[in-house]
Amino acid sequence: MKVFDLQCVGGHGFEGWFGSEDDYQSQCGRGLLTCPLCGSAQVMRLPSAPRLNLSGSGRDEPVRLRAPLGSPVSHPAPAPTPERQQAEAVFLQAVRHVLAHTEDVGARFAEEARRIHHGESEARGIRGQTTPEERQELREEGIEVFSLPVPEGLEGPLQ
Ligand SMILES: [Zn+2]
Repeated sequence: MKVFDLQCVGGHGFEGWFGSEDDYQSQCGRGLLTCPLCGSAQVMRLPSAPRLNLSGSGRDEPVRLRAPLGSPVSHPAPAPTPERQQAEAVFLQAVRHVLAHTEDVGARFAEEARRIHHGESEARGIRGQTTPEERQELREEGIEVFSLPVPEGLEGPLQ
């Protein structure tokens, strides 16, 4: 059984009991629905109160539940300043880029840099260890080198 809230054109509200939605439509279509108070056949169906309440709470409930989850996540420890974090991130990114795009030639760096410079070795990015004297010699020969302090722990996994 379905219970519909009905109202006639005269504003009389009443309940109608039907076997199904189709039953209601059928009776309504054949003019069998009449107001028990005034006998008017011009009856319309009102949204049922229980249904309104249900849909209303259905819309409100998730919002209330979501609100606490959407609040800012509290950090367990005080973080460094954003400026410092960003500077470190940029630096680490640059280091990773260099490590990923250069070949580690280790102690042969100065020698390999010269070979590349003179076209004796394949032109590519290399990295390795040099002494300050070697770097000075390379610069004097017109070979660009730059020092990049690589943080511990970054070098290993990329080799
Ligand atoms: Zn009526």
